[in-house]
Amino acid sequence: MYNEKMYKLGSNRSVIRELFEFGKGLAEKVGPENVFDFSLGNPSVEPPKKLNQSIIDIINTSTPSQAHGYTSAPGDVTVRKVISKQFKDNFKFDISENNIFLTCGAAASLTSTFLALSEENDEFIVFAPFFPEYKVFIENAGAKCAIVSPNKKMGIDFDDLNKKFSKNVKGVVINYPNNPSGKIISDEQLNTLCAFLTKKQQEYNKEIFLISDEPYREICYGNKKAPFVFDKYDNSIICYSYSKSLSIPGERIGYIAVNPHAKESENVYLAICGAVRSQGYVCAPSLFQKVIKECYNLTSNIDEYKANRDLLYNSLTKYGYKAIEPDGAFYLFVKALEDDANTFSLKARKLGLLLVPSDSFGVKGYVRIAYCVSNDMIQRSLPKFKELIDNYDKY
Ligand code: PLP
Repeated sequence: MYNEKMYKLGSNRSVIRELFEFGKGLAEKVGPENVFDFSLGNPSVEPPKKLNQSIIDIINTSTPSQAHGYTSAPGDVTVRKVISKQFKDNFKFDISENNIFLTCGAAASLTSTFLALSEENDEFIVFAPFFPEYKVFIENAGAKCAIVSPNKKMGIDFDDLNKKFSKNVKGVVINYPNNPSGKIISDEQLNTLCAFLTKKQQEYNKEIFLISDEPYREICYGNKKAPFVFDKYDNSIICYSYSKSLSIPGERIGYIAVNPHAKESENVYLAICGAVRSQGYVCAPSLFQKVIKECYNLTSNIDEYKANRDLLYNSLTKYGYKAIEPDGAFYLFVKALEDDANTFSLKARKLGLLLVPSDSFGVKGYVRIAYCVSNDMIQRSLPKFKELIDNYDKY
């Protein structure tokens, strides 16, 4: 009567969503002030002032069909030209607007890219820890998701990559700053990865794509920078989103950029057009296409996330927790106080701390703390974290 695979996807809520829903129920019972919900990656920092103003200005100065009507499928050409200028200004990289496709956020960028590239027996490699939806998106495109384990610093374990690599690999997905670890790949690791992929392309005499998922590109701390892959590896595709940089995840706007130096880049782009069409996206939200044009190179205030990172990382490590120091994004990956992260997460719940166990990110024994919350909530949660580690046997 219905598709069993879709039924399974729909009825098995993600662990993150399950925890979020649990938190809402708990808040009703014990009061919202006693719940410390670190489950979701929903930006807590306000969008830039100009963003709200530009919504008003666009509505006031456009006809309804200019503001809200269909745009061409790849997006308004003036907006895509601005994005191509941004590549030039920020990365000194030439890319035409015809290599840019506006999408309904990074999720749509990814589903469309996997669908556009997948042929029979294809596999995509993801590096643990990874955003759990990759597996859903890859498998829905009819491909296989192969998981490479991390090294001790949550970087790429090249021995495991070599072991897992086969002639069926069509692409490799990277995501830095990373959800859930907050790490950014080192230049050395990125160069090694690009050299590895180049060698494998020669060995198997085929194209292997490097797909860079970049919703956290601008959320970097200190002198850390997100990698730019286009000038390092030709067969590459960037899946970008404004969800986090402008704090507008519900507005669904992002883009796919196909490296103009990729083999048959025009045809790859057309396959992306087809993938977007087949999924019925029609076009990215019209109003927000225009909004991002007005918000050129703007971001929400990243310093607020940095203040949260510093407070949480410094306090937790002082109490005795072991954590990966985040270079960016707004997640802290903390070692659970016992081998089973699920049991640890259940015990933390007793103190109102909602922490996502790491199993669905492809590694065991950690929890993810999404610190895109108010600084005040972090302050109030600290005694609970201390209580948890000091008296763990009690829970
Ligand atoms: N990729 C990663 C790594 C993410 O963390 C997220 C959302 O949290 C997405 C993709 C999806 O982003 P969007 O809301 O733009 O679809």
